[in-house]
Amino acid sequence: MKGFRLFRSIQIKLILMVLLLILIAVQLIGVYFISTMKTSLINTFTTNLNNQSNLLTSVLSASNLFSSTKDENGTGDTNELLSTLVGSFFNISGAEIQVLDSSGKVLATSKSSQQFYVGRKNTSLLVSRALQGVRDNEEEIIDEDNTRNKVIAKPINSNGRIVGAIYVVASMQEVYQTMERINQIFVSGTLIALGLTTILGVLLAGTITSPIKVLTKQATAVAEGRFTERVPVFGKDEIGQLSMAFNDMTDRLSEALAINEEEKEKLASILSNMSDGVLATDEYGRVIVSNRRARGMLGVDELKEGIELSIALGIEKEPINDTLQGNENALLLRRDEDEEEELVFRVTLTPIRRRDRGVAGAIAVLQDVTEMEKLEHARREFVANVSHELRTPLTTIKSYAEALGDGALEEPPLADRFVGVIRSETERMIRLVTDLLHLSRFDSGRNQLRGQKTDLSEMLEEVVDRFSFQLRQKAITASVKVEHKLKGVWIDRDGIDQVLDNLVSNAIKYTLDGGTIEILARRNEASLLAIMIKDTGIGIPKKDLARIFERFYRVDKARSRNMGGTGLGLSIAREIVRAHGGTITIDSEANVGTVVTVLLPIVLEGSEPR
Ligand code: ADP
Repeated sequence: MKGFRLFRSIQIKLILMVLLLILIAVQLIGVYFISTMKTSLINTFTTNLNNQSNLLTSVLSASNLFSSTKDENGTGDTNELLSTLVGSFFNISGAEIQVLDSSGKVLATSKSSQQFYVGRKNTSLLVSRALQGVRDNEEEIIDEDNTRNKVIAKPINSNGRIVGAIYVVASMQEVYQTMERINQIFVSGTLIALGLTTILGVLLAGTITSPIKVLTKQATAVAEGRFTERVPVFGKDEIGQLSMAFNDMTDRLSEALAINEEEKEKLASILSNMSDGVLATDEYGRVIVSNRRARGMLGVDELKEGIELSIALGIEKEPINDTLQGNENALLLRRDEDEEEELVFRVTLTPIRRRDRGVAGAIAVLQDVTEMEKLEHARREFVANVSHELRTPLTTIKSYAEALGDGALEEPPLADRFVGVIRSETERMIRLVTDLLHLSRFDSGRNQLRGQKTDLSEMLEEVVDRFSFQLRQKAITASVKVEHKLKGVWIDRDGIDQVLDNLVSNAIKYTLDGGTIEILARRNEASLLAIMIKDTGIGIPKKDLARIFERFYRVDKARSRNMGGTGLGLSIAREIVRAHGGTITIDSEANVGTVVTVLLPIVLEGSEPR
């Protein structure tokens, strides 16, 4: 496996490629060179042998040695002479020369070891062809020692007659040895060249592969998110350019990722600081992103991974599936925070579209519309209440006016009574409208407080004085107790006067004849001015206490109306007290009495008025 991997390395491939190329080139050159060399050497050897043989035949032809050996039994002297001649004449090392007469019988031989041939007949084909006059007779033979020999037979002419022939056998061993040496030189040269090429190949291929290795390392580093490392650039060649391009790419990638990261952070911080809840889903409607506000709205710390949006919101799947089909949807979600308050959220479902994938998910935006819903509800109720409150006196006025028109005018005592009713109903309507205007001024924030130094006991005495008639009528005893320290306090006298008027008038209205009313003012432990109006009246049932400050809320509508109440007195009182930065509370027990406590921050004499 390791070897296989090694073979896959570019360096090894390059080296093998170069080695193979060199091997093929050397082989081709070698084959061509050696074969040319061999041919040339053999040719030279053969030509040399032929030349010398020709020379010898010429010498022999010109000599009279053959004329004396014309007869069959040539003399021993002549043969010896021939032997000396051939022995000394030929300088081809190791060559054997036989001189033959016209019948093919050996007359002399150059080799002393071959002397026994003398007198015998040479029967070779070459000799008989030479004796027939063929001049170019040659062949290569391999003798018993496995030596290659060149054999040449040439005729000897004398006076136009063939008088004999020479027969030369020359060993070609030297030629082949030379060839062998050249071959060896070639092989060793090739091996040296291959060795050197391998070393050079390793070094040169290294110059290509090492930058590639560095690039690979860098690519891995980039893939792992390390953008600080750089590829060294060593030149302007292709690899240098690649390295530069890679560094450039790394920079851009890092920049793009940084921008991406920044965008993500921005988005995350926008999401987490949004006042609306946001939930995003994948294409299957499973929640993948949620912000803190959304989780807060749903009353959970964490959303389970991959939870379905319908389950997270506790709604039907239908609108979500519809949104995933590409439609927008909106719905109201009601959730009970605790028993008392119900939270209302508006959920807007919008599909997320991707250019190539169509709808890739949905976004649910949760808006807390509890306050809006409450306000809307209050507004509707208010309009209904106002219409109702105005309708009753108007109907009464209308019917009394009709009665007057129908003849009651003719009866003065009846007419007086009717006119009285019309007047009191009209006054009630005026009171109502005045109260409403008052409230509307508070609602729009147009009611400016005008602080002034006030003697509290004097102010409270005046309130009681204003109601002295009603108090006497109902034989109610009213008393005022004020801590003497509270002589000069800064308050909006008109505003607080109205609060006290409303509260005292209520106390009188809802106290039976002969009851008592106490008005107390003191500075409490928290340094707040506490004004209490206590009565011994009919009281308010516990269940109504929580809503008693609501506009138009009355415990007993008929009784309140009979008393000329509008149902707005307490709510106006609360608005004024709140504007002072104070609080108003009511404590009551049915048929025992009621205590209304107004707490106001005291601005002492000498300090800035509020
Ligand atoms: P109204 O004009 O009807 O008096 P208020 O807003 O002043 O309207 O009071 C609201 C309701 O609170 C009254 O209808 C009455 O039922 C109840 N209420 C207020 N003050 C007293 C009190 N001192 N004793 C008994 N019930 C009271």
